Amino acid sequence: MKSKAQGMTEEKRQSQEAPAEFTGCRFHPHRPAMVRCNKYELHYCQECVDNCSACTDPNLYCQHRNQCFIWEKCRREMKRRRREGDCSAAASQ
Ligand SMILES: [Zn+2]
Repeated sequence: MKSKAQGMTEEKRQSQEAPAEFTGCRFHPHRPAMVRCNKYELHYCQECVDNCSACTDPNLYCQHRNQCFIWEKCRREMKRRRREGDCSAAASQ
């Protein structure tokens, strides 16, 4: 049948501040998303952020990254990986 409004509750009308497009994680759709990539409008769960797999292009310029939680978290992780030679960017030698 055509029941597209499935799962909609009346309570959701009250919370207008909640972003309507905030769905599940890109890699784990069943999990609630914690952060959002402004550049690609993708969502990620906490684990993806912790694993630093949330940023699509950590080495690419992103105009949102100054306000991006993913970038803030990932920045340190990328530095650490480079220092340990574990980053793909350092594998070109
Ligand atoms: Zn995830």
